[in-house]
Amino acid sequence: MALLTFCYFSFIVPYLALIRIDVNLLFLLFSQIIALPEQTDIKLEIIGQAASNPNWAFFAPHENENVVNHYVSKRIQDKGGVFVILRQQGERLIHLNIEPFTVRIDPNRIFTQAGRRKNIIKLNPKLRENTYVFHRAMRRSASLAQLILNALGGKDNSRTWVAIHNNTQGFRGDDKQGIGDISIHLYHKKLTAGASFLAAVSEPVSDEDDLFFVTEQEDYAAMQRDGWNVVLQHPQVIKKANEDDGSLSVFAQKNGIRYINIEAERSTASFGENHFELQSKMVDYVLERLQAKLIQQVPSHSQTRH
Ligand SMILES: [Zn+2]
Repeated sequence: MALLTFCYFSFIVPYLALIRIDVNLLFLLFSQIIALPEQTDIKLEIIGQAASNPNWAFFAPHENENVVNHYVSKRIQDKGGVFVILRQQGERLIHLNIEPFTVRIDPNRIFTQAGRRKNIIKLNPKLRENTYVFHRAMRRSASLAQLILNALGGKDNSRTWVAIHNNTQGFRGDDKQGIGDISIHLYHKKLTAGASFLAAVSEPVSDEDDLFFVTEQEDYAAMQRDGWNVVLQHPQVIKKANEDDGSLSVFAQKNGIRYINIEAERSTASFGENHFELQSKMVDYVLERLQAKLIQQVPSHSQTRH
């Protein structure tokens, strides 16, 4: 208030401008930036805080998949919890600068040791494993994973992780010029082909690219019942070495943490559309489910034995 009064009498700015200053100031107080100590251009934008109840942590690992980020930030401001956005150059991949090389990594493939190794090998085919650069890239990937996990509140399994992603229209090989590899139709093909990371895939409804990917049977059943596209990860991913890709969903399953990924279509080079409205509804739907669980957990009088 003192600051606002100071602004008003010092600069005589219009009233509406004062409101805007106030809102921005509140947002700044509500968000913080944390840099990776080993490479400070890799940053986490943290909105809210994991320590604040209610118990959910949202995470956006791919910086170019940001259709609904602003909306999620607003919801977290209203409802509590934390939203972590990974930032570097606005791209999907993170670039590790390990002189004189640049090592590319997918930040959603760094949460297990095996995943980090596969990730570096796949995206940097010329980099040999028994080199100093490879080892440093492994260590830096691990350090980034730890920074993210700390921001999400650690491995406390009373907290639900909600991932925010966007994907491209259709999928590669769909005979409709589709690109990418996320679609409820493609998950059906993979399930039919015997993919061991899948337990169940719902019957396709509405747009094939808008879907939930979850680890809990209960979420799968409810989302299917409520008319969404939904995919259930198979719990055997934690036992099968070839399914350990280092993604947050596999790491969540290993640690008994409830995980919900909210996927929706985005426009890519003018192909497809940003499904902002639909993805906002998916965010609200998830928040309602998470809040309902909180309410259930509060013991009520009717349950008390007399
Ligand atoms: Zn993504």
